[in-house]
Amino acid sequence: MFRVDSLRKLQSGCMLFVDGKNVYYLTGFTGEGCLLVTPASAVIITDFRYVEQCERQAPECVLEQTTREKGRSAIIKKYLDDAGAKELYVETGILTVDAFRALSKDLEGITLNDMPPVLRDMRMVKSDEEIKAICKAAIISCDAFEALLKQIKPGMTEKYACAILEHEMRLRGSEGPAFDTIVASGVNGSLPHAVPSDKKIESGELVTFDFGASSMGYCSDMTRTVAVGRISYELNKIYDAVYTAHMMALEQVRPGVITKDLDTIAREYLEKRYPGAFGHSLGHGVGLNIHESPAVSTRGDTVLQKGHVITIEPGVYLKGLGGCRIEDTVIVTDTGFIDPYTVSKQLIVV
Ligand code: ZN
Ligand code: ZN
Repeated sequence: MFRVDSLRKLQSGCMLFVDGKNVYYLTGFTGEGCLLVTPASAVIITDFRYVEQCERQAPECVLEQTTREKGRSAIIKKYLDDAGAKELYVETGILTVDAFRALSKDLEGITLNDMPPVLRDMRMVKSDEEIKAICKAAIISCDAFEALLKQIKPGMTEKYACAILEHEMRLRGSEGPAFDTIVASGVNGSLPHAVPSDKKIESGELVTFDFGASSMGYCSDMTRTVAVGRISYELNKIYDAVYTAHMMALEQVRPGVITKDLDTIAREYLEKRYPGAFGHSLGHGVGLNIHESPAVSTRGDTVLQKGHVITIEPGVYLKGLGGCRIEDTVIVTDTGFIDPYTVSKQLIVV
């Protein structure tokens, strides 16, 4: 995995990447450090701890080890001088203010410019290899969820259910949770981003699980809301509405569709039935980051194309009653989409 040449075709000049996901995407290196791209070199600047790892993971790159005498800035300066560069693109959205100031001071005479969104655009369209990793993560999370369903029972705390789910994902090869697992039972279900608590899961409640595995650094993201025993008519109605909104939006996923139009389909349907109860975006892109481009929101203006990977996750949240969300992450193909998530979206009763 070495994508620096593809990057150079899209963007000229010298670029400094400090975002670990971007460094990995471009070079395969997963350790701490940064990547300097000049017209002639791709240089990974790291410290003693990652030297061997860097040699193994990114053999196409030049490796520069920082020492007490020779820091990051000195190394960058040398390569910029070699390239005769007077400008450097930096990731202003990632660098801290302190780091930016220090870099400006150390690289006197060099103008620091905002990095163009070229990598965001590259990363948005997934290769076959990336799609394979994303599907693997999806299968791990589905299998782990099926295993959880067999173990879950009233009286179990949200934290305990969360631990089972994360453990089952690990057993199936996940590199770790793709993000903080959400388990929200009963009245906690009205919090879209509830943190698993000591609250016991009770019979008659809906329980929302939002979670993901990771494979080769790529995330999965899925949400299922399950019923524990018999639930009320009111909760059933909420589930049906969210399910219908999810399916209506999902069925429209294909190349050429603008992401905000997907959001509108689900939003209009839910707004008529539960005004104000769906307060977040319909979805987001998924890849090395759990949230990345394209946005699938009221303002999302990306025209879908093959290789985009997006979530569809409508929800309804009613204070004092609970909530429901159903989410799959799907891959846009030439003609429509692939949904690698196998867990049923019909109401599951445990
Ligand atoms: Zn999610
Ligand atoms: Zn999501």
